[in-house]
Amino acid sequence: MPKHTGSCHCGQVKLATDLDPMLTMQCNCSSCRKHSGSVTLHTFYAETEIDIEGPTNTYVYTGGSGHKMTASHCTNCMTKVAVRPEVFEGMLGVPVGMFDDAKTLTPKMEIWNSERLPFLASSECMEDRFDGSSVAERLSALIEALENR
Ligand SMILES: [Zn+2]
Ligand SMILES: [Zn+2]
Repeated sequence: MPKHTGSCHCGQVKLATDLDPMLTMQCNCSSCRKHSGSVTLHTFYAETEIDIEGPTNTYVYTGGSGHKMTASHCTNCMTKVAVRPEVFEGMLGVPVGMFDDAKTLTPKMEIWNSERLPFLASSECMEDRFDGSSVAERLSALIEALENR
């Protein structure tokens, strides 16, 4: 039995992994918000660490940092099942909502605080907050997590 399992809304796309995410992050940028329709919470895995199976199509957009994001969606229910950030090659952002045990995936970092919806109270769980894209800080957090695998 994998440590984490999950699926899209209709169940056609399934995920499984034996590892906890390297990072769980909230992005407050208006581009992610428009794409997800709401608050954006992603876990991050190396592509080799998580199995995502099922028919998807892709949509490419520009994230808050100005870098390309390739999002995969279930071809039936259109749930976003993963994003591939151009700036973090080999990494996969997987929305928290895909996981069956989403309640265990507490975000530790949020970015683009400058664009955060004002009524979203600052959450106690956040250890790091950045006003901008903070690509360097995210990269070092990912590398640190990788070393602790
Ligand atoms: Zn689906
Ligand atoms: Zn964003």
